[in-house]
Amino acid sequence: MTTTVAFIGLGNMGGGMAANQAKAGHKVLAFDLSEAALERAAQAGCTPVGSVTEAVKEADVVITMLPAGPHVLKVYSEQIIGAAPTKALLLDCSTIDVDTARKVAGLAKDAGYAFADAPVSGGTMAADAGTLAFMVGCDEPQFARIEAALEPMSRATFRAGDHGAGQAAKICNNMILGITMLGTCEAIGLAEKLGLDPVKMFDIVAKSSGQSWSTTTYYPWPGPVPTAPSNRNYEGGFAAAMMLKDLKLAQDAAAKSGASTPLGAQTEALFQMFNGLGYGGRDFSAILQMLRGKLDELPKE
Ligand code: NAD
Repeated sequence: MTTTVAFIGLGNMGGGMAANQAKAGHKVLAFDLSEAALERAAQAGCTPVGSVTEAVKEADVVITMLPAGPHVLKVYSEQIIGAAPTKALLLDCSTIDVDTARKVAGLAKDAGYAFADAPVSGGTMAADAGTLAFMVGCDEPQFARIEAALEPMSRATFRAGDHGAGQAAKICNNMILGITMLGTCEAIGLAEKLGLDPVKMFDIVAKSSGQSWSTTTYYPWPGPVPTAPSNRNYEGGFAAAMMLKDLKLAQDAAAKSGASTPLGAQTEALFQMFNGLGYGGRDFSAILQMLRGKLDELPKE
């Protein structure tokens, strides 16, 4: 029996994820507000439709990959819940705040649906390759079904805990990512000042204790990692505005829980500055150019 997947939000991440659902042989009804995104989805084997409700009305699985909490709350409360059949499994893969994730889970549960927050890690390369890591917050008995639905897009799927726990894990992960990216960028800037070649620095750090995902998979200097956004003038990838959103979520959560996160606070402040200068649409690794004093070489759009 063919599985019908409704996929809502076909941007930098959702585009590749929907393509992998189609590649797995599922019927993918895809919707986005952007015409260009719908065209890309059609080329990748999905069926573009004209609205969220049209996408979800016969779905077995609904997957959303939207920018932030307000988009998720609106789309679920106004367009998915009540329009999708109650047998449908609802999976939100966006990165949003824990409270909104729990609120949407409550609305879904009250209406008779199984729901999970299932944010991802791995970036656009992993979204395209079907090798994302998923952090799931759900009722325990639902996990096997959720893991199976995510399989075409996943390298590893973890149940972090109950509803909201997937988002909690994700904001902790992304606070590490923001901090390590800034550390990598600062080190490149320093290396340059000391007369070192940033490409040679990659060779050294990738095999040394300063190594992290931000170096080996996403090096912010062009050359060593051909798939990294630094090679295409920081277009696409993970927008600096999205990184700022996640760092704010982490700081809000830290303030509420009493956790001490001074490096997270400093990282948020630097991304706030970079966004304020007008570069929120560039990949977050472009913050290297702010630290190097080379923003004049970086296009805003
Ligand atoms: P994006 O801006 O490229 O894509 C979001 C898409 O949602 C856009 O195409 C937009 O048109 C669409 N959209 C917005 N409102 C909509 C609505 N009401 N109905 C239908 N479509 C709508 O963003 P992205 O980089 O794909 O990120 C999506 C989510 O994934 C974010 O929460 C982000 O934090 C998270 N994330 C991104 C990355 C990354 O590397 N880009 C990695 C992990 C997680």
